[in-house]
Amino acid sequence: MATDTTNPSSQQAGLGILKGHTPFVGLTGGIGSGKSAVSDRLAQLGAGIVDTDLIAHQITAPNGVAIPFIEKQFGPEFIDSRGSLDRAKMRSLVFADPEARKALEMITHPLIREETIRQAQRLIEESTPYLVFVVPLLIESGNWLSLLDYLVVVDCPEELQIERVTHRSKLPRNEVERILKAQASRQERIAHADMVIENQGSLDHLQAQVLELHQKILQIQKDRSSSS
Ligand code: ADP
Repeated sequence: MATDTTNPSSQQAGLGILKGHTPFVGLTGGIGSGKSAVSDRLAQLGAGIVDTDLIAHQITAPNGVAIPFIEKQFGPEFIDSRGSLDRAKMRSLVFADPEARKALEMITHPLIREETIRQAQRLIEESTPYLVFVVPLLIESGNWLSLLDYLVVVDCPEELQIERVTHRSKLPRNEVERILKAQASRQERIAHADMVIENQGSLDHLQAQVLELHQKILQIQKDRSSSS
């Protein structure tokens, strides 16, 4: 692993070097709030998306770069027959054992950081108008806030989050409730937001808010380039 595993701010230092080229937008929200729905639409509008959740999945998928380290640390029983991380098994372990969670994060976080920086750099080189970092635990991690020019929070009532996630991911209700409890509250997230996208209505209503966001960020970018 090329990145320093002991320095939790190394991703921020790396991204900090890239800052200033183009607006950095953070996109966060609780599980099932609609982050992917928002980022998919922003991508269609031309935004550059760096989805840290997707990266976390890719590095733990078959042939993912984290797999050999996870196997060495936790044993082959945590790798399924396709060569992917056994997510259900690992979820149970890390919920019950904070030390195991730390050990897993020591493996995955530096790899996610490295890939986040690589993707951001590539998008900047492609002259993408602005970057959107999708980070589920953005508020919880603490390091992101100072890096961002604009923070967007996708919000909806918890009951709706539970309904969407049990439907989307086929997770049992108590599992989703457990995940929700481990995340920041809606109020904590909203307190940091420059814009809150309210996603408790139709997808059309969501798209209208996303378009408004897109236009706002393009304006920030325009103001920035005319003042420099
Ligand atoms: P997140 O990325 O925050 O976990 P998703 O964007 O995956 O959430 O949304 C969770 C689920 O809810 C998905 O299946 C998505 O298609 C659905 N969804 C999101 N927003 C809406 C909406 N406004 N109306 C109907 N379904 C929605």
